[in-house]
This record gives sequence, C-alpha cells and structure tokens, in this order.
Amino acid sequence: MVRIDKEKCIGCGSCAAVCPAVFKMNEEIFKAEVIDIEATEPCVKEAIELCPTQAISGDE
Ligand code: SF4
Repeated sequence: MVRIDKEKCIGCGSCAAVCPAVFKMNEEIFKAEVIDIEATEPCVKEAIELCPTQAISGDE
C-alpha cells in the first residue's frame, strides 16, 4: 500500500514527475496524492527514495 504523509509533503513534485501513474499533485493544496494505492511499479520505490522529506511509504 502506497501512502503519503501530507504533514511531511512539501509539494516538490518529484514523485509525480518520476511516477505519474501513481502520484499526482493536488494543485489546490500543493501536495501530492496517491492515485493507485495498490501500485507496485518500480517507480514507487524510486519516488520513495527521491522524496526530500520521506513523506512516502510503501510495502517493500
Ligand atoms: S516527493 Fe515527497 S515532498 Fe515531493 S511532492 Fe512527492 S510526497 Fe511531496
């Protein structure tokens, strides 16, 4: 299960850029959202590693 801690997200956009099938930016609150919480694509791991605030968690 893929989750974003909205308290930690600073809205940098990295996750949506690297993995647009799973993450998208909410332009109203300037934070990322998970589109597909059951996603297992390799880019999820990449997004977790790229997130500057460790806001993303997922099953490894
Ligand atoms: S990479 Fe992290 S901080 Fe940046 S938008 Fe995604 S969840 Fe938020």
